[in-house]
Amino acid sequence: MTTALARPPVRTGDDRRDANASAVLRTVLDHGPIARSRVAALTGLSASAVSRQVVDLVRLGLLCERPELAVGRGTGALGRPQLPVDVDTDRLAVAGLHIGVPYTTFTLLDLRGQVLYRQEISNRGRTGFAVLKPLLERLPRLIAALRGGRTVVGLGAVTGGAVDPERGLMLRHGLLGWRDMPLRELLEDATGLPVQVDNHARALTQAEILFGHPAARRSMVQLFVGHVVDAALAVAGTVHQGPPSATGDLGHLPIADRLADGQADERADEDADDAALCHCGRRGCLSVAASDTTLFEAAAAEGITAKPDRAQLIAAVQQGDPRADRLVRERARTIGRALALLADVVNPDLLVLTETFAVLDPAYLDVVRAEFTLRSHLHRDADLLIAQQRGPDALAVAAGAPVLGELYARPVRALAATPARHR
Ligand SMILES: [Zn+2]
Repeated sequence: MTTALARPPVRTGDDRRDANASAVLRTVLDHGPIARSRVAALTGLSASAVSRQVVDLVRLGLLCERPELAVGRGTGALGRPQLPVDVDTDRLAVAGLHIGVPYTTFTLLDLRGQVLYRQEISNRGRTGFAVLKPLLERLPRLIAALRGGRTVVGLGAVTGGAVDPERGLMLRHGLLGWRDMPLRELLEDATGLPVQVDNHARALTQAEILFGHPAARRSMVQLFVGHVVDAALAVAGTVHQGPPSATGDLGHLPIADRLADGQADERADEDADDAALCHCGRRGCLSVAASDTTLFEAAAAEGITAKPDRAQLIAAVQQGDPRADRLVRERARTIGRALALLADVVNPDLLVLTETFAVLDPAYLDVVRAEFTLRSHLHRDADLLIAQQRGPDALAVAAGAPVLGELYARPVRALAATPARHR
């Protein structure tokens, strides 16, 4: 029996053209504005091949020439190939949706992943298709009103839970009450745009590879701590897509503490017995110990906030409420423990944490890092551990990342899919 795995990949002329175009485009993304000769040196392509690719990429709206930066400008002797080129951030845009539990983030990004527009749309506690229905009605108008003179080349849609990017299906999202939701088809029908769907931890990882820390290209793990807790892994610039489309679900990592010291051990056992029951039937799961849901409910139960609410807890922390500070620090230590386990198992070049308080305040990232160093057997310092650099824009950038990832990997093919009415 012949399996798909046994078959060698078929490389058509279009694939080769896209591979070269991608190499040129990504080199300009990393080093632009840059001279064509330097692109040739960095990619190993011939000067004439680079020049041909640049002509195509400029025509497609992906690159632009920067004559104002030319060296020896005005002599005319060196000609056009000496004009530096850069990623064009003016002509094309990518739309994105991050569908979260409390709200959905709509965004428009330029090709460097900069946020041109971002809007949070409350989900008003809806679940199931009712979360999606108002978005499907609103999106076409929103995109048309906001794109300005730009061509929107695609829409990314990312969310927690198990997402199958190949089939465009949201397989299951417990908190949203979704099962086998045909997300791509629904969004394509509503907007007429090519749609790429993905899990948000994988999308955050893709965004980091494209626009983030250089070590992300070697290997990285992204831990997302929100209402869901999940993780994604990338090696050599490729985001791992686990079977069957599931990302790393870290929610049930048994995180209840066990210290060697006798007294501490007793205390930890009591803690574990007190720990809230996870929906999986066990106690001490990471998602119960560290999710936003748990943190915001604890803050409300202690009277720190009037109700379980992110903005209210952020305000309490920023006003210096010691009870809020203690809750956030406790969670930071729990996350540090989880990251130490993760880093010891995977040993990545980079660990990126996307969590509200570590992103907002370096003091909380320091708590995570201190616990990480204390717990890790492999890592003596926490240099590899960083907080998500995009801050509050992180999920907005991740929302467009599946489309941007496709655009940088297969620029010619990706743009061939953009329908005329969005130009
Ligand atoms: Zn569990």
